[in-house]
Amino acid sequence: MSTRSLVRLSAAALILVCGVPASLLIAGDTPSPAPAPAPAPASAPASNRVVAAPATEEVLAADEAKFKAHIGTLASNEYEGRYPGTKGGKMAADYVQYHFEQLAKYGVVPAFTEEGDGGKKTYRQPFQAPAKNVAEKQEFSYTIDGAAKSLVAGTDFNILGFAGNTDATAPLAFAGYGITMADDGYTSYPDTGENGPSLEGKIAIVLRFEPMTEEGTSRWAKEGWSFAAGLEPKVGSAVRRGAKGVIIVNPPGAKDDRMGKLEDVNSLTSREPYEVPVVMMTTEAAEALVKAADPQGRSLLDLRKLVDKEGAIVELSKATVTLGSKIGKLRPMTDNVGAVLPGVGELKDRYIVLGAHYDHLGTGLVGVRFPSDRGQIFHGADDNASGTSGLLINAAKLAEEFSKLPPDQPRRSVLFLAFSAEESGLNGSRYYTQHPIAPIGQHDYMINTDMIGRLADKPLEAGGVATAEGLSDWLNPYFESSGLKIAAKPGGMGPSDHASFYAVSVPVLFLFSGMHPEYHRPTDTPDLINYRGAAQIADLAKRIARDAALRPEPFTFVAGGGASAATNNDQPAPGRSRVRFGIAPGDYSGDEKGVLVGEVLPDTPAAKAGLKKNDLIIKWNDNRIVGVEEWMPYFNAAKPGDVVKVTVLREKQEMVIDVTLEARGGAR
Ligand SMILES: [Zn+2]
Repeated sequence: MSTRSLVRLSAAALILVCGVPASLLIAGDTPSPAPAPAPAPASAPASNRVVAAPATEEVLAADEAKFKAHIGTLASNEYEGRYPGTKGGKMAADYVQYHFEQLAKYGVVPAFTEEGDGGKKTYRQPFQAPAKNVAEKQEFSYTIDGAAKSLVAGTDFNILGFAGNTDATAPLAFAGYGITMADDGYTSYPDTGENGPSLEGKIAIVLRFEPMTEEGTSRWAKEGWSFAAGLEPKVGSAVRRGAKGVIIVNPPGAKDDRMGKLEDVNSLTSREPYEVPVVMMTTEAAEALVKAADPQGRSLLDLRKLVDKEGAIVELSKATVTLGSKIGKLRPMTDNVGAVLPGVGELKDRYIVLGAHYDHLGTGLVGVRFPSDRGQIFHGADDNASGTSGLLINAAKLAEEFSKLPPDQPRRSVLFLAFSAEESGLNGSRYYTQHPIAPIGQHDYMINTDMIGRLADKPLEAGGVATAEGLSDWLNPYFESSGLKIAAKPGGMGPSDHASFYAVSVPVLFLFSGMHPEYHRPTDTPDLINYRGAAQIADLAKRIARDAALRPEPFTFVAGGGASAATNNDQPAPGRSRVRFGIAPGDYSGDEKGVLVGEVLPDTPAAKAGLKKNDLIIKWNDNRIVGVEEWMPYFNAAKPGDVVKVTVLREKQEMVIDVTLEARGGAR
């Protein structure tokens, strides 16, 4: 029996005892003894600075149990992957609030004020989560030899998220793999002269993936598919060749675990809609259509084998196809959940923020790495039930510890903040920085824990250590006495919520125990968590937060230092791209029609070409770019030495900048 069901069992038992919904309770919810402050280690400045001591073995063991209960609950099936605006997402917010409420006895108060309700205090900061697509109209029918056939949405086909709100009726044509130009010169669109077959005014059937072997594997890539298989560029090039609609099909015989799966209106969402209907149909339904529509009666497999060798357009002239698509937007509301441990004295109006996002992918509505995982619950034990648990454990500890300090000892207020909608683009943290509880300039330091549950051989990454004057030196005693291997990184940018605070000049610390194969997969489960490691990392965050709240010196923000941790932001898929560009994207949100340049990294192609911070990249050669995700297929297709025409918006002016790409360190 796995730990997950064990936790569920224990939770069920609890209901009987005390009547508080089990899913809100946690074993050992009792305050732990505050460790005595240790003498300042050697590297500490000579001042009479006291550095909070690391937790004792006994405390760490107790914390491990708390982590097990918190993560076991938040990552359980009941919480359904905690997608914003869903039942599971709401349950997670209730869970966090319940635990903040338990700290009222130490003076912890709700962080927010309800709008227009006479200033009633609340733990909730509601905001609109990014829109979800809703298929309002899905039509697919065809006529062959006067016989009409309608296909069933959800069974035979689905409209895709970047389909236009429009209809089309046109003859059918097969466009093979829809690849403009591959490395070895392969193209799906050979020049067949004026009167050759074309997609002009047709509805195009386009095969997914790329030319393959008899065994159904790529002819070009050693494993998986090469960058030429990117789906979006295929749709773009068919539309640019005059297609009135595009039908994507999984090619028969392909070796891929997405076979048999239909993408849908939410699986490909981030691109600006095309002006034509774009659908995906099942291989079986496509086989029936092609066989009937091809004047030579060839099967889809026959045509696949044809274009495995050489690209070609095949007009399936017996069929006239009608497609219709209309996409609506659903904008669920979600909440940041926050509580404040009020400060004292001249520092009380300054804030230390302890933050972690509590949302995750739900059943795969955003941020999915393997589309075949869609539909399953993404448990998110490490991402980020671990960080949220650390936040709850530290809130209880700091509240209890501070209640024992001399009542007049000056200290900053501590804001405990659980963000929602991080996975869809740091939306909760960005919303908070635009709607803070006090002027953002009074937020002195933000500590973000995102994925602290999988500490292994790799050192713990601590990002942002150079985002305030003298901060790196100030942090060293904590790192050295933590018993952890730590890789300190200077910069404050990165793919998590601290980046929203760094972007508004708040010094940050990002704690991250590292990537792992279960990242953004349903298999990110509690049984893989390193609970001792999580307890140690949380203790490190707590010690730093405690002393940051007490330290008399100000925090003076320093910009620079590049990305904070994880991957360098312009290389989304490790080892996939061969070139480097040299920017750290700024804003991740889908609302921004382009890629915002958050930072230009020195001595890179972008810097040499003169790109500037806050430029908005809108085109890569003649390809419209509306976000990081669409940029990637083009980026991955680029080669060292390529000169790319990058169109940016700078102060509302459009500029075209030639950027000569360079090889990524050691890339193939
Ligand atoms: Zn995360």
